[in-house]
Amino acid sequence: TEMLLEDLPGVGPATAEKLREAGFNSIEAVAVASPAELGATAEIGEATAAKIINAARQAADIGGFETGDMVFERRQHIGKINTGCIEFNEMMGGGIESQSITEIYGEFGSGKTQVGHQLAVNVQLSPEQGGLGGSVIIIDTENTFRPDRIQQMVEGKANELGIELDYEDFLKNIHVARAFNSNHQILLVDSAMDLANELKDSDKPVRLLIVDSLTAHFRAEYIGRGTLADRQQKLNKHLHGLQRFANLNNAAVLVTNQVMSKPDAFFGDPTKPIGGHILGHTATFRLYIRKSKGDKRIVKLVDSPNLPEGEAVLSVTRDGIVD
Ligand code: ADP
Ligand code: MG
Repeated sequence: TEMLLEDLPGVGPATAEKLREAGFNSIEAVAVASPAELGATAEIGEATAAKIINAARQAADIGGFETGDMVFERRQHIGKINTGCIEFNEMMGGGIESQSITEIYGEFGSGKTQVGHQLAVNVQLSPEQGGLGGSVIIIDTENTFRPDRIQQMVEGKANELGIELDYEDFLKNIHVARAFNSNHQILLVDSAMDLANELKDSDKPVRLLIVDSLTAHFRAEYIGRGTLADRQQKLNKHLHGLQRFANLNNAAVLVTNQVMSKPDAFFGDPTKPIGGHILGHTATFRLYIRKSKGDKRIVKLVDSPNLPEGEAVLSVTRDGIVD
């Protein structure tokens, strides 16, 4: 009994077709579009677009406000992805949550990309194995995705679980796109939405979106104080797109953010991202990762709506993220 676009008042077969071609595959996708966006892509007037969006909002029951019981119901479906490390999972209340953006920030080489690779493996496992039985989209801005690293982690996981796993199957469920600049990066979220819609009814719906790095292009392109407000505005819009992706797909979103160490700075909180809080409070969970002895890393939960601050120690090994 799922509603089709054609069921919306004012949407005939031709308009429905145009909407689908533009990537608006569901009532929900239309409901969260802006009139300008929908009008331009479906070649209809903005006033008509606004009417269609309103109808879609009523149909999809996402008028902007949700009552507490609705939020409760939606949150019943939150899934958690095993990180590979028990302490880390416990700190996160079970694992990395769907319907949320998790930001992991730290210096170069601290292990942000490793955590992303590990989640890209673990999300594919069944819920009993710590996954969400889903596939992954990676927006790779620094060209650091490594298939051979996935292979190592899948082998590690197979050993740990005492089962056979084929790394090639895992690689097939990881969809990677390079982002060449910040505009391209933002556009890739729309492509990700299209791909997620395509895979929605498959046996591996998209349950994880990684943006690694979220901030590198923005930092490089927006230099100097005069452009900071522009950068902020664009980044906020990008993050809202990511949150929308998380909600519509019941997916986890992981974003990485590299911060510099400042050994010459004697005051200030070293766990605060230096160079400004460019993410502010848009990410739901904020994790600070730093190097410790050998292969050990310390991850600190800095900000969360419902969990206490805490620290966890993990190791980055050939097998991946482990206790
Ligand atoms: P960043 O925070 O910059 O994204 P990375 O996630 O790329 O950092 O972490 C790089 C570090 O991960 C390396 O310095 C190394 O300590 C560890 N690492 C990478 N690959 C392996 C591997 N195959 N075996 C063990 N450790 C690895
Ligand atoms: Mg990295």
